[in-house]
Amino acid sequence: MVMTELELLVDFHREGERQGPGSSKDTLRALDLLKLPKDKNLAVADIGCGTGAQTLCLAENLEAHLWAIDLFPEFLEELEKRADAQGLGEKIKVQQASMDQLPLNPASLDLIWSEGAVYLMGFREGIQYWKKYLKPGGLLALSEITWTTAERPAEIENHWQSAYSQIATAAEKIKVLEDCGFSPQGFFLLGEESWEKNYYQASEARFAAFLAKHQQLPAAQQLIENEREEIRLYRKYKDYFSYGFYLAKMEPEKNRG
Ligand code: SAH
Repeated sequence: MVMTELELLVDFHREGERQGPGSSKDTLRALDLLKLPKDKNLAVADIGCGTGAQTLCLAENLEAHLWAIDLFPEFLEELEKRADAQGLGEKIKVQQASMDQLPLNPASLDLIWSEGAVYLMGFREGIQYWKKYLKPGGLLALSEITWTTAERPAEIENHWQSAYSQIATAAEKIKVLEDCGFSPQGFFLLGEESWEKNYYQASEARFAAFLAKHQQLPAAQQLIENEREEIRLYRKYKDYFSYGFYLAKMEPEKNRG
């Protein structure tokens, strides 16, 4: 069977513990900033959950029912396996859906979580669309690529402007949250370990096996080239960008607009 580029991408990433930078430490730090009630059974959606590293962490640490939502069934199958292996299957319901067509009821969620995925809709568009699924006063936890300095070298500026033009500083991202009717509850930047150990080094460790599995396939070689280039840019320019974790609470009555 000839695999498409997208199928190859899913095939490469399904074996990863994560599909983007992050760590349980970051997830727990974000949870802590939200000061969620411990005694209430919360309704939570994890959007763009991938194979669910953060979903499992949330399930372990929250009294909650979690909807784990992703476009790719391969990731969700993996998530279900991992959840069952950890005895967390009861708390998590996977839903294959696109993040811009959520199969959920409006005003039904206490918390929307999304690590490294809202960029696929655009930070502003994602927040605007997702907020109608939150109960009044509901909470939002998003990680998103963020400039960490006011200026940066042209090579990295140009790379990100063409890859994702909504990349911006934390102040600009928080302004978007405020424009959308949210009040900021906390912010922090992911450290280097969350990029290197959990994501890039874990990816690099799979390159050889992936290339061997898809021998001769130019698209597979190209995929690995792209991964290598992304990693090179991160290592060269990590002083200028990271993921920011944004915690916010919907102001009352703002979920209708
Ligand atoms: N939250 C995970 C995965 C982040 S990568 C982590 O941090 O490890 C982004 C995820 O968004 C991938 O799992 C990808 O399959 C998913 N995705 C891509 N397009 C999507 C869409 N339109 N709707 C829902 N999920 C999507």
